[in-house]
Amino acid sequence: MSQYTITQIAPQVTTIVDDDTSIYVVEGDKAAIVIDTGYGCLNLKAAVEEITPKPLIVVCTHGHIDHAFGAHYFDKAYISREDMDLYEEHRKIKYYVKDEKKAAYNLSDEQLKQWCESTANLEFITPGKTFDIGGNILEVISLKGHTAGSIGLLDRKHRILFSGDGIISHVWMQLKESTTLSEYLKTVKALKSYCNDFDTIYMGHKNHEAASFIDELEAAINDILSGSTGKPYNNRAFYGLIYKRGRCEIVYNPERIK
Ligand SMILES: [Zn+2]
Repeated sequence: MSQYTITQIAPQVTTIVDDDTSIYVVEGDKAAIVIDTGYGCLNLKAAVEEITPKPLIVVCTHGHIDHAFGAHYFDKAYISREDMDLYEEHRKIKYYVKDEKKAAYNLSDEQLKQWCESTANLEFITPGKTFDIGGNILEVISLKGHTAGSIGLLDRKHRILFSGDGIISHVWMQLKESTTLSEYLKTVKALKSYCNDFDTIYMGHKNHEAASFIDELEAAINDILSGSTGKPYNNRAFYGLIYKRGRCEIVYNPERIK
């Protein structure tokens, strides 16, 4: 039976792990922000309320099933407009994975039905938007690449970038919803202009890296753009090539480099 694991990672910053997805809660003086919502099979709002009684702002970093589908527990959640088609597509995936999730989370038939039928009230956000939670203002940053609408949240107070799957040790760029690698390189280069604002990147799947990770990621993408080739990626459902450099692993579609 899978349950949430809740761990404080810094003062006012907590992670909630849902299966292998990391959800983050940053508490301010007047509100708290919830970054990503996991699969949504378990009651995420109840878990967040164990951490803070403050009003909640909920933001999904992108539209994938393991990040956006706990949004239905909240009055409203923010997501990029560019990921809405993807979100709708993944809503259908719930019916394909429901039996697997029923077993993993030990859900009753009624709970499973509720999960499959749940809908969220989503509002669109764009990069540049800020959220003032009291004594701390977080900014939405574009992390376009893994998906067209991927975003991160920059927390200058704690010097953390919360990056979802947009900047991650093992990044999936082979998906049909991913951009080309040259497009992704633009995102990574633009992010470097914020590098003085954060020391650590907290990623979407139980991992974090120092900000210098960005330089390695840029170098790895440049390697591929310059002709280096990865090895076949051993995942039948999500075929691609995998290229490794330092702490980075990029899975990509060789037809979608430039
Ligand atoms: Zn994803």
